[in-house]
Amino acid sequence: MSKKTGKVYLIGAGPGDPGLVTVRARQLIEIADVIVYDYLANPKLLDWARDDAERIYVGKSAGRHSIPQDEIEEILVARAHKGQQVVRLKGGDPFVFGRGGEEIDELQTDKIPFEIVPGVTAALATAAYAGIPLSHRDYSSAITFLTGHENPEKHTLSIDFKAYAKTNGTLCLYMGIGQLPRISAELKEGGMSGKTPVAIVEWATLNRQRSVYGTLDTIVDDLAASGLGAPAMIIIGEVVAHRSKTEWFEGRELFGKRFVVTRAREQAGQLTQMLEEKGAEVIELPFIEVTTDFDPKVLSEILAGIAVYEWVIFTSANGVKSFFELFYKAFDDIRCLGPMRIAAVGAATAREIEKHKLKVDFVPKQANAAALAEELIENEGIESVQVLVVTGNQNREELVQRLETEGRAIVDTLPLYKTKKTNLLENEAAARFRKEGADAILFTSSSTVNSFIDQNAAFQLEDGARRPVLGSIGPMTSKTLTEKKLPIGFEAPVSSLEHFIEAAVQHFKER
Ligand code: SAH
Repeated sequence: MSKKTGKVYLIGAGPGDPGLVTVRARQLIEIADVIVYDYLANPKLLDWARDDAERIYVGKSAGRHSIPQDEIEEILVARAHKGQQVVRLKGGDPFVFGRGGEEIDELQTDKIPFEIVPGVTAALATAAYAGIPLSHRDYSSAITFLTGHENPEKHTLSIDFKAYAKTNGTLCLYMGIGQLPRISAELKEGGMSGKTPVAIVEWATLNRQRSVYGTLDTIVDDLAASGLGAPAMIIIGEVVAHRSKTEWFEGRELFGKRFVVTRAREQAGQLTQMLEEKGAEVIELPFIEVTTDFDPKVLSEILAGIAVYEWVIFTSANGVKSFFELFYKAFDDIRCLGPMRIAAVGAATAREIEKHKLKVDFVPKQANAAALAEELIENEGIESVQVLVVTGNQNREELVQRLETEGRAIVDTLPLYKTKKTNLLENEAAARFRKEGADAILFTSSSTVNSFIDQNAAFQLEDGARRPVLGSIGPMTSKTLTEKKLPIGFEAPVSSLEHFIEAAVQHFKER
């Protein structure tokens, strides 16, 4: 029997902000076998994909040409023939200057089933994020979407812009930056007033959004002076002058500021999210990488005998996550865990355990392995007791040794993941930092300061990059920075993420 043909989902990835895709788009990304994505589709959307989903980038990037359209179509067809669920992610909406029509033609020719999911197109997103109403009862009753660049091979414009000078509505110009001098001249020739207001917005909806405003007479010079480039949306019409006075998006406290967050991937999330809420752009540079790493034989032996342990000790939130993922694969009843007691090294680890509706019996006063061993031995009397330590490849020797020698417990260890240093010289985000720089690097612990020094080569800025100040989360981290002779730009009075961000806001406000 021949294999069932897969399906191709042509999906609008929206303008950039991952919050602006449809629920349907997200569902399909989650189940896809293959994701074929463009330059303008935010790669963050791929975080929703299965770990084993294949990701194929077909967009252009600095110095590299994009994959030709016919090759993209071939990829879609070939994958569907293999029976795979193929998601084709295109910036904005697939049917608005996105060549979606050509891809559908090809799929029809090859009799491949498809579905189309619309997306928020750049014109609508830009209008919303710049506060420009595209229609207005007093100024504009028509909205036109135009492209300034129809076919890269043609290099000519077949659109007669003079004709669009007379719509008395709003013009939204895609891919118009390169041809702007010519387009604005033609609009004026066609009778549009040189005083007509114009907005140009680059990277709309992302925290790197920038905009420039002018009139048809001035906009070419305004654009040159601003340094803005593609991708940008150009909006022309009276409505531009009637945009909202409040800049709800570009006016946020940390808007336009770029921060480097230097934490392990798993933990960076919260700080990044809090910064992004305030409009900052965040480059996450993970100093360490955590990967799953376990011996399946050891795992299955331990899980089979899990009920014999009187204590199970978790040394990190990562360990908890991996443990339960694997446990649920082996058992479908939480009671298979048995009547053990549970210890966690600290509050974050305990919280991760409690997500499974399990009470944590023991957390040491200080969140470290030595304190855990000491207090457990002192308070709980673990002599001859069977103990399981669920852990990674670090910080376990001392714990196990003390439990065995001082506490005379019988200890098994279950290592589930490994932590290793990231080589930032090979990291894409770090390359972007070197090229563009940042306004601040945030240090959240002494160990991040040490890693920063250790990976110094990865932080060498190129000419023209923004020079960052260094921010410290509190006195301990500041002490390490000072010891290493690094100047402190701002410091949180109390070591918490909230205070840290407040200190950053204050710092940039004063400048
Ligand atoms: N299918 C897309 C358009 C692709 S053409 C859509 O529906 O939005 C590419 C052009 O779209 C860019 O040159 C730019 O003019 C515009 N564009 C796409 N994303 C943008 C963004 N985030 N900000 C400003 N313009 C954007």
